[in-house]
Amino acid sequence: MNKKLRITSIDIYKSDIKLKEPFKIAIMEIFASQSIFVKINSNAGLYGFGEANPFWGITGETQSINLAGAVDLSKLLLDKNPLNIEERMREINGFLVHNSTLRSAFDMALYDLLGKAAGLPLYALLGGGKRTFWTDNTIGIGEPDVVAQKAVEFKNQGFQAVKVKLGTTFDMDTKRIKKIREAIGDDLPIRTDANQGWDYNTAVNILHALESMGIEYCEQPIAYWDYENLRRIRQNTSIAIMADESLFDHHDAFKLASMGCCDYFNIKLSKSGGIHTALKINAIAEGAGIICMVGCMTSTRLGLTAAAHVISARPNIKFADLDGHMMLKEDPIIGGAQYNVGEINLPDTPGHGADIDPDFLNLCECITIK
Ligand code: MG
Repeated sequence: MNKKLRITSIDIYKSDIKLKEPFKIAIMEIFASQSIFVKINSNAGLYGFGEANPFWGITGETQSINLAGAVDLSKLLLDKNPLNIEERMREINGFLVHNSTLRSAFDMALYDLLGKAAGLPLYALLGGGKRTFWTDNTIGIGEPDVVAQKAVEFKNQGFQAVKVKLGTTFDMDTKRIKKIREAIGDDLPIRTDANQGWDYNTAVNILHALESMGIEYCEQPIAYWDYENLRRIRQNTSIAIMADESLFDHHDAFKLASMGCCDYFNIKLSKSGGIHTALKINAIAEGAGIICMVGCMTSTRLGLTAAAHVISARPNIKFADLDGHMMLKEDPIIGGAQYNVGEINLPDTPGHGADIDPDFLNLCECITIK
């Protein structure tokens, strides 16, 4: 059957879910999770679901851009074999050079379909095992007292690490971390993320001031393109440096590793263009002695579930930042990864195991390409 499997149609859904509260980072502020879902249908009745959740300030994609691009990518895939992911991703990546978030939705849907055709959950399809792991929970940019209060809430809920968005001024950023550390005590690690908000000197000064405050790592202190200064910052602080916006694909991974720019990689499917390239990044990381995290944008649990399978399948991925759906007012996902506070448990159903509530989909604008 599988030899003759082909893509018969693709449904593209426009999904808008409000955030519980606005989420502010150094380079942008968002108010809603504006995903598109793609459903790749095959002649065998099997389908795969993928999600693209755009952060325009990072990948240059908006929901409207992704809707238009999804129509073109769908036309490219019609009638082809969905199981040959190597070939399909070569076509997709060759057709749209950037738009990594959109490409990841198609990648995710193809892997979902492959898992269903093989009768294997995604982590097993990737040759990995099932493990339970924890995600941190992220606090956006806010007043020091307010972010400290949030950190206490997360600690009381049982989270084992908090991630704090920084990237403003020396005074405000150091005050935020000082207040949080005083409020939560010394037990929990604090992860920080400047989202490119600092320049070289500010980064070195702030990181130096934070060195005694139990910081697990700092993500992306400076602009995404500034590899040379990222390397210099790493040399000038004892806090581990994690590349995020500087790292999209395996080519970036190779450069960052070769130059010694960072201790850790933050892989996101929305930057890598999906699982296919995420695995290549992790392989380069492993070869270079770099430990990985898998992070997210403000996806629903569908996108997060696909990412969670990748974490489960690759022991070199030691950190998880899969908290996006916790910011959403609605959870339209059926099945998928289950969260016990921050502890993530994967399903054993074939594919990624996440589906979307039909009642929710019925309310979404939908384009079908066939
Ligand atoms: Mg980040």
